[in-house]
Amino acid sequence: MPNSVIASSAPAGYVSLVTAQGRVAWRPCPHDSIPRWDQYDAYLFDIDGTLLRDPGRVHYNAFSKACLEVLGHPLSLEPVTVAGSTDPRILRDAFAAAGIADETWRPHLPRLLEAICSAVERQAASMQLTIMPGVVDALRHLAAAGKWLGVATGNLESIGWLKLERSELRQHFTFGGFSDAHEQRADMIAAAAAAARKLAGAHASVVVVGDTPSDIEAARANALPVIAVATGHYSFDRLLEHPPDICAENLAALLLAQPAPFNGSPTNGHMVNAVSKGTSA
Ligand SMILES: [Mg+2]
Repeated sequence: MPNSVIASSAPAGYVSLVTAQGRVAWRPCPHDSIPRWDQYDAYLFDIDGTLLRDPGRVHYNAFSKACLEVLGHPLSLEPVTVAGSTDPRILRDAFAAAGIADETWRPHLPRLLEAICSAVERQAASMQLTIMPGVVDALRHLAAAGKWLGVATGNLESIGWLKLERSELRQHFTFGGFSDAHEQRADMIAAAAAAARKLAGAHASVVVVGDTPSDIEAARANALPVIAVATGHYSFDRLLEHPPDICAENLAALLLAQPAPFNGSPTNGHMVNAVSKGTSA
C-alpha cells in the first residue's frame, strides 16, 4: 500500500506506517519514531472484537432466551448497538426499543442477568470462539515485560471468564472489570483501572485496549490513554476519527511496529513502508 494512501487516511497529528499485518497510526511524542504501545504498567483489554469473537453468537442469543424465561416473551437486539455496550445497557436499550417501560422490566434485572449467564453456560459448547490476529503474541510480549494484564469488558463476569477459558486466554489475565454492577462502560473502566492500580501501584500507568468508539470514550472519561484495534465492527479509519492514542488494524500489526525483531523471528520488525506523516484532518 503506497504511503500516499496511508497519509490521506491518517488525521493530522498522527504518524502512520503499514506493516505486513496491516496499518498502525499513533500520536508521536517528540522524537518517537515507533508507537510506544508497550510502555504502560497495566493493560485493560476489551474482550469481544478485541481479543476474540464468536460467530456462533451464543452470548447475543442469550438475551432473548433469558427474557423468554423470566418475562415470558422474547426480546430483539436488532435495533440495539451491542458493540462497545455493556450487557445491562444492551438490555435497557432493547427494552426501550421494544417500547417496554423501565418499571416493567427493571425489577427483574437481577433474574434477567442471571438467566443470561445461565443461557450462555448451557450453550457454551456451541461457541465458535476465534482469537484475533496477534493476540497471544501481544499478551506474551507484555507478560514477558512484566506488565499487569486485565480485561475490561461489557460482558457479565461469568460470561467474560467463560469466553477466555474456552479460548485458552484465561491464563494471561490476573484481574478484570465487568458489567455486572455497571450499566455505563466508563464506570466499568473506572473499576477496572482501580483494580489495576491496586495491583500495579497507585501511580501505575494504565491503558485501555478496545475495538469501538465506546472503548475510546470510556477511556477518555477516565483520563486514560487508549489503543484501538480494528478487529471488530469498526474500521481503522472510523476508529481514527475518535481519536485514540494508538490505532492498529490488529495486534499483529502493532507487534510488527516494534523497533527490534520480536521473539527472534527474522520476519518480524520488517516495515513494508517507511513512516509517513498524516496530513488530512
Ligand atoms: Mg469490543
